[in-house]
Amino acid sequence: MDLPVDEWRSYLLQKWSLLPKSAQVTISTAETLSEIFLHSSLFLRSEDEKFLKRLSQGYSVGKDPKAPCFYREEGNKKFQEKNYSGAAVLYSKGVSHSRPNTEDISLCYANRSAALFHLGQYETCLNDIIRALMHGYPERLQPKLMLRKAECLVTLGRLKEASQTVSDLESNFTVKPTPTASPFQILQKNLCILKMKIQEKENLPEIFPTALAKDSEDMDLREENEHISSASSSVRLCTDPLKGRYLIATKDIIPGELLVKEDAFVSVLNPGEMPPPHQGLESRWDTRVTLGDLYCHRCLKHTLAMVPCHGCSYAKYCSQECIQQAWELYHSVECSLGELLLTLGVFCHVALRLTLLARFEDVDKVLRRICDEINNKDMRLSESKTLVKTFNYNQGKSEEIGKTVETQIPGCNLKGKYENNYNAVFNLLPHTENHSPEHKFLCALSISALCRQLEAASLPALTTGLKAAVTPELHADWNIWAVAMLRHLLQLQCNAQAITAIQHTGSKESIITDSRQVRLATGIFPVVSLLNHSCSPNTSVSFTGTIATIRAAQQIRKGQEILHCYGPHESHMSVAERQQKLRSQYFFDCCCPACHCEEPRTAVGPRWEAFHCNNCGTLLQGDDVLSCGNRACPESISRNHLVSRVQQLQQQVGVAWKLLRNGKLEQAIPLLLRCREDAESFLSAEHAVVGEIEDNLARAYAALGDWQKSASHLQRSLQVVEARHGPSSVEMGHELFKLAQVLFNGFAVPEALDAIQKAEDVLLIHSDPQSDEIQELQKMRSCLLDLPPIPGGSQKDSGP
Ligand SMILES: [Zn+2]
Ligand SMILES: [Zn+2]
Ligand SMILES: [Zn+2]
Ligand SMILES: [Zn+2]
Repeated sequence: MDLPVDEWRSYLLQKWSLLPKSAQVTISTAETLSEIFLHSSLFLRSEDEKFLKRLSQGYSVGKDPKAPCFYREEGNKKFQEKNYSGAAVLYSKGVSHSRPNTEDISLCYANRSAALFHLGQYETCLNDIIRALMHGYPERLQPKLMLRKAECLVTLGRLKEASQTVSDLESNFTVKPTPTASPFQILQKNLCILKMKIQEKENLPEIFPTALAKDSEDMDLREENEHISSASSSVRLCTDPLKGRYLIATKDIIPGELLVKEDAFVSVLNPGEMPPPHQGLESRWDTRVTLGDLYCHRCLKHTLAMVPCHGCSYAKYCSQECIQQAWELYHSVECSLGELLLTLGVFCHVALRLTLLARFEDVDKVLRRICDEINNKDMRLSESKTLVKTFNYNQGKSEEIGKTVETQIPGCNLKGKYENNYNAVFNLLPHTENHSPEHKFLCALSISALCRQLEAASLPALTTGLKAAVTPELHADWNIWAVAMLRHLLQLQCNAQAITAIQHTGSKESIITDSRQVRLATGIFPVVSLLNHSCSPNTSVSFTGTIATIRAAQQIRKGQEILHCYGPHESHMSVAERQQKLRSQYFFDCCCPACHCEEPRTAVGPRWEAFHCNNCGTLLQGDDVLSCGNRACPESISRNHLVSRVQQLQQQVGVAWKLLRNGKLEQAIPLLLRCREDAESFLSAEHAVVGEIEDNLARAYAALGDWQKSASHLQRSLQVVEARHGPSSVEMGHELFKLAQVLFNGFAVPEALDAIQKAEDVLLIHSDPQSDEIQELQKMRSCLLDLPPIPGGSQKDSGP
């Protein structure tokens, strides 16, 4: 996904292996990016470009005139099954393949409006009705649509407009008196009902929704930092020869305090699982739902009502504004390259988009930097931390090392301010010297192929705006842009930030929300990039659309470094795995406290991976052969044996999970209970798999409406989560949220209120007060507090 598709990668790696030795040496020893690019791109032949073109054709992003009809019919099937969100997505796919102002597009919008109506999304429904009409919805079908419009307006309380719509409809009928056919009579009847509804509502005193426009309190940084945009005044930027740039606390920071709130400088949506490149008709029209069908390609907002780019079927947006912005900033160039960009992967796409965005900044300065790079001036200095050291020493600043040397911090402007801009992005380290020569060759050739396509399309967009600022011999030079893109491509391995979202996938019937974290997009956040890594970080990151927020996850003392986790977290990976990952991807050896004190697996290991003795229940210890911690007990067993038992167990849990998802509770529950019995015989009570089993059992009993059983399994799952992730971790917050949901639905009022409070306390450390989960918790609380006290407690009928 990040890198180019496998076929192109292996093609280029083979090409690399066949290069003359001398060429390999030249590329391997080249010190600047421009040398690497020039020496590599010499080898891009037209047959390579043809091969790449063939590969790209598998990812069709054009508009297929036959597709709208196909998707509309598929959508209608879902609609009939009452799967309205499924239907809406398929109608959206139909829309994205339609040309503007055609019957196809208007029918797809109209059908989608019906699905949205059933989902209760009245505002969005109204927008789709307007779109259908705008694109020429057939007149014969309009009455039904107008009736839906009036219904929406009534529900939204916009009675004047509703009455107007109704009288328009009526006058339409009187002008064209016609069919005695039954659809007409149904329409008439509905019209009458609607008029009655309007009258009823008009007689009611108008009630204004209270507290609707609640302030987005705490959403913003209380006090913005003078020297770092998007950061709070509680942090300071420092630099040091070994650590590079980093942030420290300027005062004591409490858990939950917002430290950074930054919009991505650039982000590219993760295309998700792509249909395999194939020429067959069936696979061309894919009914599977990908992230690209659900999230705006510009602002990453979730929506069922996408509006597509007029030029391609791939780019889709939440609104006209997003279409417009994307087009002006980058999509006018990218639109015709969609297939190629999908083939070359997200990193190449980000690299291109970054250079496109650079056009809107101080182009002169940007270009001078790139030219410096080409002319090999000074650029290498900022490329490696050891060289930064020499640089600092040479400047006679050695005594100041360890303190802030603000004027010399790369990425800052002349006044010493660090901002979310292209200058800051450009200064992120590409680690040129650490990447393998074949990787650099792969990147250079991919960029070179991309540039040739840009050139062939003779897109004026890339170079307009530059002309004024640049000397004539430079602006035509694609090499400048190619080198900049190569720099970005290499930067991304260490500096790309995965933008995630919580996706709720639970069916309507399931009480416990099934939520999982999905990787929505890849972005660059210059300020977030200032944070160094720890496997046990003191902050927590969350996303709203393209905005990243970093909060303190624990108390941070004045002077302490602000740290976040690049991925390898102590509760997900062993120390050896983490070290390997950090070394290969980020080129450093981690010496965070978690890595420092965690000894190689000797005694018991983390509790969430521990085994216990079948005889006496004591934890087992040892490396390849485990023996019982209780000296009186003779039990000993090989680790391999236990590991394979865990694998078998996990497989069974997986089967049960599938049964559960398909609603086959009567099969899922006994299987889970058997798994639990098996787990109890050899796993520690806090083993991750035990937690998974308990969590699934809780779901199963919740689906049956047995709140008590569900809650007691959740309590046990909570113990596992706490042991593994800590009592105030975001994972703990999600699990407490589930418990609150279950107790709420069981009307266990005091217990539910207690769980709601605990869940809220933990989640507020990690996310905005406006986040879905916290809003939901608050709704549950006010609902419970509004309940009339029922003597002797309450028992709600448990059937759904
Ligand atoms: Zn949007
Ligand atoms: Zn497009
Ligand atoms: Zn570490
Ligand atoms: Zn024992």
